[in-house]
Amino acid sequence: MNLHEYQGKALFAEYNLPVSKGKIIYSADEVTDACNEIGGTSWVVKAQVHAGGRGKSGGVQLINTPEDGIKFAEKWLGNNLVTYQTDAKGQPVNSILIEECTNISQELYLSAVIDRDSQKIVFIGSSEGGVNIEDVAKNMPEKIIYQGVVYGDKSLPDSALNIAKVLKLNDIQTNQFISMIDNLLRLFVEKDLSLLEINPLVITDSGDLLCLDAKVNIDSNALFRHPELLEMYDETQEDPQEAEAAKNDLSYVSLDGNIGCMVNGAGLAMGTMDTIKFYGGNPANFLDVGGTATQERVAKAFKIILEDPDVKVVLVNIFGGIVRCDLIAKGIIAAIKEVEVKIPVVVRLEGNSADKGSKILSKADIKIDSINDLADAAKKAVELAK
Ligand code: GDP
Ligand code: MG
Repeated sequence: MNLHEYQGKALFAEYNLPVSKGKIIYSADEVTDACNEIGGTSWVVKAQVHAGGRGKSGGVQLINTPEDGIKFAEKWLGNNLVTYQTDAKGQPVNSILIEECTNISQELYLSAVIDRDSQKIVFIGSSEGGVNIEDVAKNMPEKIIYQGVVYGDKSLPDSALNIAKVLKLNDIQTNQFISMIDNLLRLFVEKDLSLLEINPLVITDSGDLLCLDAKVNIDSNALFRHPELLEMYDETQEDPQEAEAAKNDLSYVSLDGNIGCMVNGAGLAMGTMDTIKFYGGNPANFLDVGGTATQERVAKAFKIILEDPDVKVVLVNIFGGIVRCDLIAKGIIAAIKEVEVKIPVVVRLEGNSADKGSKILSKADIKIDSINDLADAAKKAVELAK
């Protein structure tokens, strides 16, 4: 689960990490009060979306008057921000973070991810932070340090020191940095993060370290033990179909083809998509209905697939293991009627009672292409999608 920058920074503050003084606002009316409350004579206004690259797309702006902040809020609130990290539609802006403007002397890069190979949390640092970090990774990889760390280990200050050297920090900053790494690691472990990125981590004109941006990703599988983080979930930032699927415990990923796929099992779903591609078609989605392909779940899955206007045909590929294909066949027929599916449906059943299932499908009072061989079923779907 992704957090907004302002939510990530609230966590940072909780863990004694330095962040700018700021306020989140939801309407242009709140800008002036927020600026006054923060104080000073210049501010930075930042559109809150689950994507980076805002700086390059006008989603971050330095302002010298609250009026400019109001203009910024009127421009973005209720609209979508497109950056090189979003799709063509962009992400909706529903809130804006207003912060005191920091005078920056240098922009650094710091992030942390879990490295499964070394079974460690790895910090990634570079002296060349800011909006062009992707270019640094591509053209100057030697400027980036990868440092594995172990939570609670005595070697942590030494690990932090290795990174501090690459960031070319002075003694005061190095001391700040060592406690920063300690706090970040504690945050990472205690809140079950899967990713953390501070780009830029800045050295201010007074020589101090400050986290100017915050990207925080939480391991969704651990959310059950963090009700306080679950409250930060912002459904508006998710693909609506994917969010609806997640609520129903269906694994759905929307793609840009026109053949809807409904499959039980993630591996089988991948195989089905490959087969569609192999015969020249394009899957509209990945969808795993899970082991229990009941009428209820199949109906829900049809609804989600059909919300995508590009879908011209649905290919259902079910392997009956414990569940019997004859029961699934009845469920599919009932679901198609319930959802009033109007586009062609191709069904391939295999496994437990597949023959009985296929017979039920071919005798149904609605038209379903029941095809036992996956290659033939995929070819049929590709043909119908044309
Ligand atoms: P991103 O582009 O979505 O990653 O958004 P960031 O939060 O990283 O902001 C983009 C850029 O805006 C930063 O790299 C900074 O150069 C600039 N910026 C953000 N906040 C401030 C600030 O307080 N003062 C100054 N001078 N620049 C800022
Ligand atoms: Mg950034």
